[in-house]
Amino acid sequence: MKAVRFHEFGGLDVLQLEEVPDPVPGAGQVLLDITASALNHLDVDIREGVSRFPVEPPFIPGVEVVGRIAALGDGVSGWQVGDRVMALLMDTCGECEFCRTGRESLCTAAGFISFSTSGGYAERLACSARQLLRIPDGLDDDAAAALQIAFGTAWHMLFTRGRLGIGETVLINAVGSGIGSAAVQLARLAGATVIGNASTDEKLARAHELGMDHGINHATQDVVAEVMRLTGDRGVDLVFEHVGGELFQKGLDSLCKDGRLVICGGHSGEVVPFDIIPFFRMQRQVIGSFTYHRTEVQSCLELASEGKITPLVHATFPLAETREAMAMMERREHFGKILLKP
Ligand SMILES: [Zn+2]
Repeated sequence: MKAVRFHEFGGLDVLQLEEVPDPVPGAGQVLLDITASALNHLDVDIREGVSRFPVEPPFIPGVEVVGRIAALGDGVSGWQVGDRVMALLMDTCGECEFCRTGRESLCTAAGFISFSTSGGYAERLACSARQLLRIPDGLDDDAAAALQIAFGTAWHMLFTRGRLGIGETVLINAVGSGIGSAAVQLARLAGATVIGNASTDEKLARAHELGMDHGINHATQDVVAEVMRLTGDRGVDLVFEHVGGELFQKGLDSLCKDGRLVICGGHSGEVVPFDIIPFFRMQRQVIGSFTYHRTEVQSCLELASEGKITPLVHATFPLAETREAMAMMERREHFGKILLKP
């Protein structure tokens, strides 16, 4: 099969389109013909060797795939060749203390697409049948490929970890990103008042179309002052944070008393100063969030197939243009997901 690999860590030029052996599905696994694969910022960290995950070149990146089942390994039941599926990012064990208590995102023995399998920047992938989710008829492959990490992560952050309640106000950082634009849609659907920020007025205009109530341009406006103006000096109940750097502290300063900041990433600064005094005097909380649960993705698939949420595809590229696709993502000019189509 054709796959995009890197043999050393580095910039875009380390990516090579190569012919590699087809993956072979082992017991309990399926072979997928990949029809679409989404890019994620994690892929950049993996390529540069700074992801803090165990990555050994040569390596095929790509953690988010949809496709059709091309072959079944031994012992797989309930699935047929030709079924249209997505592979969940995590292959959870189902047996550890976290899996047994409904907290599979904390699984102590989880495998991940691209770490424990080959990656999604390829024509084929073999993964565990336990990871499969059926794609509803009302959702095409590209929309499905743009859904899982953006909406699954946003759902887990907003509702499971962040406990967003009816009538609350949420500040969503970087609404132009995949998870930011997903969070705008889910928070609106849940009845929250949605304040969002982005680096350009164009991205804010797109987020308004998705249901954002108030937009703040964080390149030209004072985020905290604007939040306080919009909330009558109260602050927001929840901050949806995935950027890091300055927006982390600005998020904390935008919270109401007893407010929560839920966070799942820090590309713009992973180690940040933290003002302890207002944090404890205002009895605020910082809540970590990592991946999501199968049931959360299932809920998002149903909402998308009913047209209540819309996975956003900014652009699609063939495998041969993976460097251009990653370059587009790294310029941060996109709104929604960038896909590779084998
Ligand atoms: Zn487990």
